[in-house]
Amino acid sequence: MIKVEKLNKSFGDLHVLKDIDFTVKESDVVCLIGASGSGKSTLLRCLNFLEIKDSGNIVIEGDKIESDTHDLNKVRTKVGMVFQHFHLFPHKTVIENVMEAPVYVKGIPKKEAMEEARKLLKKVGLSDKENVYPSKLSGGQKQRVAIARALAMKPDVMLFDEPTSALDPELVGEVLATMKELAEEGMTMVVVTHEMGFAREVADWAVYMHDGKIVEVGHPEELFNNPKEARTKAFLDSVL
Ligand code: ATP
Ligand code: MG
Repeated sequence: MIKVEKLNKSFGDLHVLKDIDFTVKESDVVCLIGASGSGKSTLLRCLNFLEIKDSGNIVIEGDKIESDTHDLNKVRTKVGMVFQHFHLFPHKTVIENVMEAPVYVKGIPKKEAMEEARKLLKKVGLSDKENVYPSKLSGGQKQRVAIARALAMKPDVMLFDEPTSALDPELVGEVLATMKELAEEGMTMVVVTHEMGFAREVADWAVYMHDGKIVEVGHPEELFNNPKEARTKAFLDSVL
């Protein structure tokens, strides 16, 4: 579970996250929507401690995390992140990409890490690609490797930042299907996405952000069909 209270983050004079309150319960899937620059990526990056908050609380699995008292590398192992542009290691094979963090961050024996990596590659439908280098994969395959790599750390929560935005349209479905499967297995997920179909079908909650604030939270069907706030409606009118 993630609980965020009064989270604030600025870059210089730019106040990007303004008193964000946000709770994601166990096994919830939350879709985060909002215009470009509204702070969605910054919020995810704060949850994964790639950015350090200025003030407020971030509680992960009951533990209030502070950058000066916690080992953030250890905390990050609990919070998997998948980016728009995959970020695979180009000089490592698919299976080496998946094994890297378990072996070098967690110190898991290679043999064990390899067995686990094979299971994960099977899960994302890429068993036949384990010895291939990322440059030989399609975008959808790369993203599925990135998902397997994040799962290899056995995270409690998975964060996705526009995981399908860089993909050709015909490759979007395979990545969303993998994410849907994860959601059905009970993974707690926060997903920044423009895929409203996915949000409707898979998300328990949709959250609309505007100018660094959470403006509206609701069941996706309710929020998309019947937004209460004028700003939410204006945004939806522009994207739907
Ligand atoms: P998009 O939909 O385009 O991805 P977003 O909602 O994810 O947008 P953020 O990337 O969180 O928005 O950015 C929010 C604001 O913070 C923007 O004005 C951006 O320029 C600024 N910003 C983000 N990261 C930094 C940084 N490292 N340094 C300075 N400004 C930043
Ligand atoms: Mg972003």
